[in-house]
Amino acid sequence: MKLSLRQFSQFVMPIIIGLALIVSLSMTFSASAQQSDANTLNLCVDPDWMPFEGLIDGKHTGIASDYLSLFSELTPYSFNILPTKSWKDTTDRLKAGDCDLTLMLNSSAEREKYLSFTLPYFFGPNVLVSKNDIPFMQDVSAIGDLSLGVVSGYRLLEEIPLYYPGVNIQVVPSEEAGLVAVEQGVLDVYVGSLYSTNLLIQQLELTSLRINGWISIQDKLRIGFTKPNEALVPIFNQAIDKITTAQHNETLYRWSNVQVIKETDYTLLYYFLAGGSLIILMLLWRYVVSAKVMTVLSNKNEELEQVKQALTSANKNLEYVSFHDDLTALYNRHYFMSALKTQFARLSREQINSVIMMVDLDFFKKINDQHGHMTGDKVLKEFAGVLTAALRAGDIAARWGGEEFIVLLPEANKTQSLSFAKRLMKAVEQQSFEADIQLTISIGMSQHKIGDSIESWIERADTALYQAKNEGRNCIKELA
Ligand code: GH3
Ligand code: MG
Ligand code: MG
Repeated sequence: MKLSLRQFSQFVMPIIIGLALIVSLSMTFSASAQQSDANTLNLCVDPDWMPFEGLIDGKHTGIASDYLSLFSELTPYSFNILPTKSWKDTTDRLKAGDCDLTLMLNSSAEREKYLSFTLPYFFGPNVLVSKNDIPFMQDVSAIGDLSLGVVSGYRLLEEIPLYYPGVNIQVVPSEEAGLVAVEQGVLDVYVGSLYSTNLLIQQLELTSLRINGWISIQDKLRIGFTKPNEALVPIFNQAIDKITTAQHNETLYRWSNVQVIKETDYTLLYYFLAGGSLIILMLLWRYVVSAKVMTVLSNKNEELEQVKQALTSANKNLEYVSFHDDLTALYNRHYFMSALKTQFARLSREQINSVIMMVDLDFFKKINDQHGHMTGDKVLKEFAGVLTAALRAGDIAARWGGEEFIVLLPEANKTQSLSFAKRLMKAVEQQSFEADIQLTISIGMSQHKIGDSIESWIERADTALYQAKNEGRNCIKELA
């Protein structure tokens, strides 16, 4: 088939141009892809070295992850993390050239063989960890015969025998294993980074452990590049140089979580708390018991008080009954005699004019006979009222027996006593007794005289009364 020039320009040229375009475009894409691969570095990390770095669910974390972000900004490189199972796995893959770099490690003679290092960009102390009962250790030299745990593959394993020959080093597979061995007493001391050991002690709650000293070998962490990538060292050194102090600090504060683990002897506190609780319990128990006893006592006291009140009231009643006449409510003969005895000595000694008066109701039998005994009782009561009303302060009146009454008038001379007797007679005369009974009384009086006994004094009054009766009643007789 022959193609005319026109046909060629119409059909074949566009195809050729199209093909050329496709080839040129694909070459451009391929070049840029190559460019992109060249700027991506395979990164291997320590999967289990928090807070420095770790892989949690495949995600890079820890201090190194912060620095990785900074390096991504400060260099033209991006990073592809190749997950590893352990630090040993990481170092193996570095040696094998699977990874181009690792971010945080100390340089050492052994590592120099397969890695080229940047300048250090993160510094951290290494500390000695032991149980609480081991004295403070200034340096590894203070360890003496004690066993010292160091993690397999760590630079410390190379450097400690170098600087401190003769130390009893025990290789442990990981920081956690080392710390647990110390906790269990299998190892005496563990040496590791302040930040990671402190974090582990807190996370694993290894409360019997404490940071018990430090060593002069510091962590100076750098980026290690595999030998084929050593040209990157100066580029990353420039980047490290650009990291500001503020950025370093921010990273450290975010991840270090440094709490100084102090030696705290809680024994005394526990004793104190136990003792305190015991005392509180005893006080509580005492309070409960004494509260119960107090309740019982107070109930008993209340009962006693009630009994006492009842007794007092009964006594008062008894006293009243024993001293008073129940019909007229005047004092009775018994009370009168005891009251007279009380006063008699003084009246005799001081020769105080005093009078005993016997009062007898006239023809009272007739009243009973005519009006009945009940009316007689009422009249007796009414008379008692009249008698009481006539008394002066200090006078004592009592029912002597039947319808006969006795009155002691202390400090009364003849005139005063006579006036009292008359006043009483007049009051009786004027009194309107029950059933309009007209009552009269006879009075016999005797003035106290030297040599009188109570009996003789009363007897004279009685005799005087007898005379008054004999002289027709309703009158007053007095015997000196
Ligand atoms: P006189 O003027 O001589 O004293 O005569 P009188 O009747 O008052 O004396 P008498 O001794 O003969 O009688 C006393 C009476 O008093 C007899 C007795 O029944 C009565 N009497 C004594 N005590 C009571 C009492 O408590 N109640 C009543 N209603 N009468 C009494
Ligand atoms: Mg009488
Ligand atoms: Mg009489």
